[in-house]
Amino acid sequence: MITPSEITLENHPCFNREACSTHGRVHLPVAPRCNIQCNYCNRDFDCVNESRPGVTSTILSPGQAVAYLEKIMELREDIAVVGIAGPGDPFANPEETMDTFRRVRERFPSMILCLSTNGLGLTEEYVQELAALKVSHVTITMNATDPEIAGKIYAWARHDKMIRRGTKAGELMIEKQMQAIRWIKEYGMIAKVNSILVPGINEDHLPEIAKTVSAMGADIMNCIPLLPTKDTVFENLIEPDAKMRFATRLKCGEYMNQMTHCARCRADAIGKLSEPMSEDLNELIKGCSR
Ligand code: SF4
Ligand code: SF4
Repeated sequence: MITPSEITLENHPCFNREACSTHGRVHLPVAPRCNIQCNYCNRDFDCVNESRPGVTSTILSPGQAVAYLEKIMELREDIAVVGIAGPGDPFANPEETMDTFRRVRERFPSMILCLSTNGLGLTEEYVQELAALKVSHVTITMNATDPEIAGKIYAWARHDKMIRRGTKAGELMIEKQMQAIRWIKEYGMIAKVNSILVPGINEDHLPEIAKTVSAMGADIMNCIPLLPTKDTVFENLIEPDAKMRFATRLKCGEYMNQMTHCARCRADAIGKLSEPMSEDLNELIKGCSR
């Protein structure tokens, strides 16, 4: 049984800026499918030079992921965190996600474990097991608390074998995301809320999200500027400039702590936050998927 004191939570570089220069993280790309379509997401790239969420060089099974992690831990002393963040959504692939966490926890008892999800597929049963496995940091990406605004960001959401679109998709996502945040806090985990700042769509709305999730006990917010990506609905929108990012974080900061050093990482990111994917590590992860 792992006790929280054996896991040094301060070493998570995303949650503690001071740990950025000393500690790194590994994302295990075990979750290929997604249960929604965000209008900013394109997961069709697998290029070593592309660095953004949704990109990975390969997909690993849970067993391959642990074998890969073992090799990484032999090579690197800075890895303090193992996370699952796609390239789809962890809970559109719950078996793979939970199996991976169980195996990693058994093999690396003092590793910080974290995950990032859109919240739709997270159930109380999963949250309960995540807490038992000492998954300490959970990120919910929530882009609106108003269903109409959310409906402009999510093209569709699939739940219980039904597809919802527009405002209906927005309503469902908000309900599930709020519930997910409540459970995460109820089960004693650290809750981060990621909100993608989309100019002209939710740019004035992020403080409202901050106000709502802060009142629910969420710990920190990460306002992430949209990265306009080819072949997405939002490909022609502008990327928020420094002024817009600063103003948004300032307003959201009236309600809760802000993360300001997010690197918009790949689903197979490895190392310190600013570290690009190297050819060697790319070969290593690809080798583990064969
Ligand atoms: Fe892409 Fe993540 Fe949105 Fe799914 S939840 S569509 S993987 S950004
Ligand atoms: Fe951390 Fe942001 Fe990278 Fe996630 S995307 S691992 S929060 S820096």
